[in-house]
Amino acid sequence: MTDALPPGGPRQLFIDGAWRDSDGGTFDVLNPATGQALCAVPAGTPDDMRSAIDAASQALAGWRATAPRVRSEILRATWQKMQDNRQRLAQLMTLEMGKTLADADAEVTYASEFFRWFAEEAVRITGELRTAPGGNNRILTLRRPVGVCLLITPWNFPAAMATRKIAPALAAGCTVIVKPAEETPLTTLAIAELLQEAGLPAGVLNVITTDRAREVVEAALADPRVRKLSFTGSTQVGRALLKQAAERVVATSMELGGNDPFLVLADADVDAAVDGAMTAKMRNGGQACTAANRFLVHRDVADEFAAKLRTKMGGLRVGPGSDPSTQLGPMISAKAVGGIADIVERTLATGARVALGGRPADGPGFFYPATVLTDVPRDSPAATEEIFGPVAPIIPVVSDEEAVAIANATEYGLVAYVYSRDLGRALAVAERLEVGMVGINRGLVSDAAAPFGGVKQSGIGREGGFEGIDEYLETKYVAAIW
Ligand code: ADP
Repeated sequence: MTDALPPGGPRQLFIDGAWRDSDGGTFDVLNPATGQALCAVPAGTPDDMRSAIDAASQALAGWRATAPRVRSEILRATWQKMQDNRQRLAQLMTLEMGKTLADADAEVTYASEFFRWFAEEAVRITGELRTAPGGNNRILTLRRPVGVCLLITPWNFPAAMATRKIAPALAAGCTVIVKPAEETPLTTLAIAELLQEAGLPAGVLNVITTDRAREVVEAALADPRVRKLSFTGSTQVGRALLKQAAERVVATSMELGGNDPFLVLADADVDAAVDGAMTAKMRNGGQACTAANRFLVHRDVADEFAAKLRTKMGGLRVGPGSDPSTQLGPMISAKAVGGIADIVERTLATGARVALGGRPADGPGFFYPATVLTDVPRDSPAATEEIFGPVAPIIPVVSDEEAVAIANATEYGLVAYVYSRDLGRALAVAERLEVGMVGINRGLVSDAAAPFGGVKQSGIGREGGFEGIDEYLETKYVAAIW
């Protein structure tokens, strides 16, 4: 176990293929397990952002014209480099974000797969030749890269949220500026260095670290050269960015919040459901937009499910993520712990009961214990607000219909989980859930080859899968006759 950063590794802005400091000074990156600073990185300014846009726009013509095979091979080489640097990347994520080494290692796999998948997609961008219904005219469609893209990522998956945007954008022939979350800039910088080593030309990818997100992003969206915004983060910030993007009619992809239901039907295999719940709830300490936020459990199995979940969650070893035996690491910040504690307190005031945990741990570090709440009213804060922590509220239900009705009674619609021994029944429920993704008898849906995304206020667009590259392409129609 070590709390020291791996040696080397970039700690500067990456603009036009060069590592630079900023006139804006620096800010500290904290280790959430100790609350101590790990290192400082540049506090990028609007001027730095404009330099990055200069670089990305100058590089665009060359990159867009680069043979798809060449783009593909750079992405594939970056996948390989992520494998070769697996341990260092995992350690970096654990230190700056707090997740366990096991979660960090799994994220290196998931994140790197976007490079391999989109290396394969880069060479399969197709247009069409159609005949107009009248028979004389031809309709030719070409797929063109959308242009300079601004990619804004959150702290909870520092590698995967970046690669899920970078890989399809570069595959499509776009150039990009990445603005990582202020909490976790180091992993993004490390990935930028790997792309550079893999042969990515200068200016194609730029990274601006900053603790002044609003100012710096406003400057980018005010610049007519930025043609695309892809954002992953809170619905609140996403909404504000959509308004800014509207000013210049910038194309947007949005991966926003969730209030994800986990349905345990009356005929479910309860042990399997508990195992799935551990993944859906406890991966990343519950700090995921895909984290199960509400457990809608048929009353016939609710007590058994609650007791078994309590035993498993209560058995998790809590500690710094950098200790290989740790199963539940710290939350990202003191503010995050305060927010979780507030939701739990307000939920208890509505009549819910604590089966496990329920009170924040003392410092140092930002810890909240595994918590199970039972008999949670469906309109209580834990059932209606995104918890983003290791708290499992259990809501007993009497039928599949009631479970679906409660599941859909939210402005969010990201992912739902359904447990049942009857696949037909589970599929019927899945069809009626207003979400972008459903896990049936699985507590994890993420896959680089699958379309990830939400409906309603959980987002716009899809990342990964065949769909992911579409977000970075636009269609040009050429009318022809011959
Ligand atoms: P979270 O609540 O998970 O931290 P946020 O939506 O606050 O999610 O942050 C996600 C990303 O959005 C981060 O990169 C953050 O720096 C950025 N961000 C936060 N506020 C703004 C803002 N007002 N304008 C632009 N970007 C922002």
